[in-house]
Amino acid sequence: MSAPNQGSLRSSRIAYFSMEVGVRSDLPTYSGGLGVLSGDTIKAAADLELPFVAVSLVHRDGYFRQTLDAEGRQREEAATWDPGEYLDRVEPRVTVEIEGRSVVVQAWKLAVIGVTGHEVPIFFLDTDIEDNADPDRRITGPLYGGDERIRLLQEAVLGIGGVKLLQGLGLDELETYHLNEGHSALLGLALLEELAESRGHEEISEGLEEVRSRCVFTTHTPVAAGHDVFPIGLVEEVLGERRTALLQAIGAVEEGVVNMTRLALRLSRFCNGVAMRHAQVSGEMFPGYQVHPITNGVHAATWTGAPMRGLFDEYVPAWREDPYLLRHAVDIPLHRIRATHREAKEQLLSEVERRSGRRLAPDRLTLGFARRAAPYKRADLLMRDPERLRAVARASGGLQILYAGKAHPRNEEGKEMIRRVVEVAETLKEDMAFAYLEDYDMELGGLLTAGVDVWLNNPTKPLEASGTSGMKAALNGVPCLSVLDGWWIEGHVEGVTGWSIGTGWDQPSDTDQEVHSLLDQLEGTVLPLYYDDPDGWARVMRSSIVLNGSYFHARRMMHEYQARAYRRG
Ligand SMILES: *Cc1c(COP(=O)(O)O)cnc(C)c1O
Repeated sequence: MSAPNQGSLRSSRIAYFSMEVGVRSDLPTYSGGLGVLSGDTIKAAADLELPFVAVSLVHRDGYFRQTLDAEGRQREEAATWDPGEYLDRVEPRVTVEIEGRSVVVQAWKLAVIGVTGHEVPIFFLDTDIEDNADPDRRITGPLYGGDERIRLLQEAVLGIGGVKLLQGLGLDELETYHLNEGHSALLGLALLEELAESRGHEEISEGLEEVRSRCVFTTHTPVAAGHDVFPIGLVEEVLGERRTALLQAIGAVEEGVVNMTRLALRLSRFCNGVAMRHAQVSGEMFPGYQVHPITNGVHAATWTGAPMRGLFDEYVPAWREDPYLLRHAVDIPLHRIRATHREAKEQLLSEVERRSGRRLAPDRLTLGFARRAAPYKRADLLMRDPERLRAVARASGGLQILYAGKAHPRNEEGKEMIRRVVEVAETLKEDMAFAYLEDYDMELGGLLTAGVDVWLNNPTKPLEASGTSGMKAALNGVPCLSVLDGWWIEGHVEGVTGWSIGTGWDQPSDTDQEVHSLLDQLEGTVLPLYYDDPDGWARVMRSSIVLNGSYFHARRMMHEYQARAYRRG
């Protein structure tokens, strides 16, 4: 057990709350892009020496470990891990009143060290303690695993327990609480509850103003199922009468439910979406609120593969401290870019062979598609016209594809999508080698975005809030072939940083048209450039780094949060 570094901790000014955090592959406390973004945010805060602390849950059962049978049927196992092996336990413990009981919460610390040595702590909250009754010990077990009640209990531990922990650690001078996604909205309620206790309920509107002056909120999805909504009966059972009355008093109970996104909006002085288009769509979803755009970015040193890191060290030495400098990658000779990427590709293909027994050819154009198997991401889009795809693969110098991605255990449509990809791809495998790699995680994500030749993305517009895997690809000189949605609307320059699929960003998705467009782009543009014009191809790789790698990084994103969200007044 260790006491945190109190000196630097006390001067913290910003507390960042997130239900999931992905900092390292061996800590299974994330499910996808939201968690990975939180991890990258924390790393960038450490690099920028920001006075920052982060709070999340420990999720001892992880998200889950995925295996697939020969037909592509997903099986799930708990990804149980022991925080004691990786993290330091900190004092004090705090208690949270939930369901009329006192639940004891302890915390584990992970120190994230920035590029100059500055430390940002992440506190992972944990209820698996002997003092708690058995069901309470499991609250911080699975990530997104339980029912509605467990979800609300988890959000209460995160929001209310998190505020108490920070106070217990002596952090009473925090200026800004950053609510990452509606999951942490109850932290605002915890602040309000304190003010109401100290000043009385008559001044609730003043309390609300004070809470608003301390909170900022980032919304991450325009998909309805991504916004938690709890019936008021359940809210009252879990949070109790007093807190429910507070929610009512601030108008957060609407039509018999509490919507956590609306609650977070109500409790925050500033709100943002995660790309320009997403901010616009979110503004339309939540009339009356101004939703600012702050486009996501990825942590450059984390997501640049080892061979490309070496090349950047040689040509752009200070890129880790200042990834904006990657614009100077324009000076790197094309043959060096090509050879360096080839190394990353060979590393990927040996790992693919080790994991799947399938050997893909290093000189063939290799597409990559890896992300959560959520239906709107349409992993099976390329497989919708198998005979045309076969013809395209045969006519060119060769085409192969790597897939990865987990479906949420209760998402049957997502699981069906994985089965369909595997089923159709198996029938094409004589003409188009493929593998669906199991158990997508940060490590595999890093290998894939560095090692494939083209990063494919085809969500249903306008549901991709941002997407960040294409930004990782760009850092590695891997162009995108993507529907114009999320960040790609901002990063796309046709034929320069990659290629688009379908019509303009402001046109709704038309699946059949997008299937044709995807195959047309492959047949008419992407495959011919790759096989017939190696220098032209390497120029697209290089401009992906120069234009997009140098911009869509977490340092730029954090500069925007500093200038627009964290600055007060
Ligand atoms: C980057 C990353 C994501 C996010 O990918 P999207 O393009 O936003 O869908 C999800 N999961 C893992 C493991 C990642 O590394």
